[in-house]
Amino acid sequence: MELKIYGDPVLRKRCDKVNKIDEKLRATAEEMFKLMKEKSGIGLAAPQVGITKRFLAVDYTDKDSGKRDKLFLINPVIVDREGTEEAEEGCLSLPGFYEKVQRSAKISVRYLDLDGKSLTLTTDSFLAVILQHEIDHLDGILFIDRLSRLKRELFKKKWQKSIRVADKQ
Ligand SMILES: [Zn+2]
Repeated sequence: MELKIYGDPVLRKRCDKVNKIDEKLRATAEEMFKLMKEKSGIGLAAPQVGITKRFLAVDYTDKDSGKRDKLFLINPVIVDREGTEEAEEGCLSLPGFYEKVQRSAKISVRYLDLDGKSLTLTTDSFLAVILQHEIDHLDGILFIDRLSRLKRELFKKKWQKSIRVADKQ
């Protein structure tokens, strides 16, 4: 399993619904959790590992409450949203780049778990930010797409520069 980095066309694909939850998907989930741990990530969506299917992994521990959310969401759909909030985001596919993004403050997400059980999760904590970010990935949307044009241009410049530096090394 390999992490896909910005520039890889797979990150821009709209992913397909999962029709079958089987051992193969459960093994993929395990690999995703492992990769996320290695990279110190808190969320990882299928296209980030080159799979154009609608599923994502979250492993996030809230610093204040100590509450750990380790979740695997299949075919997630945001069924309700409320308010807006701004929080700093980063992405394993855009290493080294962080920016404030505006999103819904509270969301409800309907999804299937790895047993095929239909669940609805409602959250207004940072988990809401993570879930919106990861669900965006399933539609080929990256967090830089949600920035102002000016900030997006700035990102592109920074990104080009970091690639040139990497090429010289
Ligand atoms: Zn991301």
